[in-house]
Amino acid sequence: MAVDFRCDVLVIGTGGAGCRAALSASKAGAKVIQIAKGPMGRCELTAMTMPGFGALIPSNPKDSRENFFLDTLDGGAYLNDRNLVRTLVDGSEEAIGFLEGLGVRFDRKPDGTFMYYSGVEHTRTKTPRQLAVGDAMGRAFYNALSGEIGRSGIRLMEDVFAVSLLFHEDRVGGLFAMDIRSGEFFVIRAGAVVLGTGGLVGLYTVRTGHPRDTADGHAMALRAGVPLKDIEFVQSNPAAFSFPESLRGVVVPGWYLVMDRGARYLNGRGEEFLHHYDPERMENTTRDIKARAMQQEIMAGRASVNGGIYLDFTRAKLDIPLEAYLEKNSPFLLDYVRRLGLPPEVIFQAPIEVAPAAHYSCGGIAINENGETCLSGLLAAGEVTGGVHGANRLGNSAMTDIFVFGRRAGERAAAFALGNRCQGSVTDVGRQAARLEKEVENTLWREPDRPVRPQALRAEVEETMSRYVGFSRHRKGLETALDKLAGLKAEKLPRAVPASRTRFFNYDLVEIFEIANLIDVGQALARAALERTETRGCHNRLDFPEQADSSWLSHVLVRMEGDGLKVEKAPINMDMDPGQG
Ligand SMILES: Cc1cc2nc3c(=O)[nH]c(=O)nc-3n(C[C@H](O)[C@H](O)[C@H](O)COP(=O)(O)OP(=O)(O)OC[C@H]3O[C@@H](n4cnc5c(N)ncnc54)[C@H](O)[C@@H]3O)c2cc1C
Repeated sequence: MAVDFRCDVLVIGTGGAGCRAALSASKAGAKVIQIAKGPMGRCELTAMTMPGFGALIPSNPKDSRENFFLDTLDGGAYLNDRNLVRTLVDGSEEAIGFLEGLGVRFDRKPDGTFMYYSGVEHTRTKTPRQLAVGDAMGRAFYNALSGEIGRSGIRLMEDVFAVSLLFHEDRVGGLFAMDIRSGEFFVIRAGAVVLGTGGLVGLYTVRTGHPRDTADGHAMALRAGVPLKDIEFVQSNPAAFSFPESLRGVVVPGWYLVMDRGARYLNGRGEEFLHHYDPERMENTTRDIKARAMQQEIMAGRASVNGGIYLDFTRAKLDIPLEAYLEKNSPFLLDYVRRLGLPPEVIFQAPIEVAPAAHYSCGGIAINENGETCLSGLLAAGEVTGGVHGANRLGNSAMTDIFVFGRRAGERAAAFALGNRCQGSVTDVGRQAARLEKEVENTLWREPDRPVRPQALRAEVEETMSRYVGFSRHRKGLETALDKLAGLKAEKLPRAVPASRTRFFNYDLVEIFEIANLIDVGQALARAALERTETRGCHNRLDFPEQADSSWLSHVLVRMEGDGLKVEKAPINMDMDPGQG
């Protein structure tokens, strides 16, 4: 029998988006429960963040609302939702104030004003707006956020896995969840639910984020009939190790510190090549262009010895040796390099091998500027959402996004829940929970003829996505991926069995649900990628290599209808006015 909880606002996720939403909902007077599938500070991409926070700050005379707006649109290949971009820009200063109010201290100049950096990418207006907290921002955030969550009266439940939304009439009424520690089932009745569940890089074999970033929120929303917007845009990080094997996907420490000081990308012949792809910005071009260029060099047979591209720091023009430079500017990173088990000279004194690795989901759940979805009572914020960053996110703006939209979603969720104090009738929600409980029990105890290990199935999903829906796509490959994913869903997923039948800490059981989420969202992603017959931002179609503004300045929406997926094109708002602040 499931344990029953009640609240006004349920927030799923303890990343920046989830924490900000929980705090703003609580401040607005709502009774808040916040859950995460791991321990807070150890299960989020936010905790992995290192270098930058993009913000409009008054002491930066070079910046303006217009510049920030234009840079974000230009970076996103003009596919961004303009209202969301305006909201991002306008909320960025408050986000900094909020974090500083909790004790986060962004880097300062000697005169006490904010220190801001240019960032790796040279944007359209070339305006510097990257703030930093030393070199370990994620760690600083959690020191501040966890204290505030503790003081606020929010009920934090860690190691609780969200399985499915529950519905009351035509709106969300709560959540069915499983306590990973005890195996108990929870029914959390809520007036509003905020999804802050992060991204989907767990779909790919080589990724910079952690493996439990498994698109759970995307999948729950999809199954509830909420569309995913522009989900085909998966950004890769162009500075992730491709060799040695043990470091694949790990972002090269300190790469952003030296990119505009003479560090160079070289192909397997030792030739510089980025000037062919972006003659003006070269090494400082945006991530989408860099990744596409790297991929094209690799595919043209000009890869490094182990199939990647060389990143050569040895030419960086620094006054002191790079290792000493990092010691001074980035001791956390240097410590990190040493922990990787490599002597620093291996990284800094000879070209290293890198390749694009899945890093960030630019698309996601369709929201408005208050984080509301089309389903009453369901809101979302952070990397799980789509529309803010268009076809390609600029570096440092994910942080801005999670705190700006987290706040707004939390406030709106509180207003909605307090104005509709009905948290799912007992019979309605109870009936759905009973069915879900049975489903989980069946998964735990099933005994198919040919059992499949979850880890093997997960590997097949990742291989399929990486091979056919990765950074170079074409029609045939995308169709193959759709066939394979449909086969895995129909034939192998029902045969996936956990290694043990225990209810305690049964991560195999959790993984089966994560894989189901990955498959559904992988299918939506492949369908959207097939639909978009052009190359734009991080979506690279080999069979449609041009950006087709005349036909494709449009969003792609994917929604679930019955067991199938429906894909449609939706117009974008073309308003280029950043508006009044
Ligand atoms: C290595 C790395 C470095 C980065 N550096 C930067 C940077 O410098 N600047 C920048 O702007 N961006 C950076 N990013 C991107 C940025 O970190 C993320 O986009 C952002 O932190 C996402 O925050 P979020 O709150 O949306 O999700 P997350 O921080 O990922 O939080 C997701 C939360 O949801 C919970 N969750 C998910 N599914 C479930 C479920 N089924 N049940 C219960 N809980 C669930 C998770 O446990 C977690 O608590 C970086 C990313 C990586 C990987």
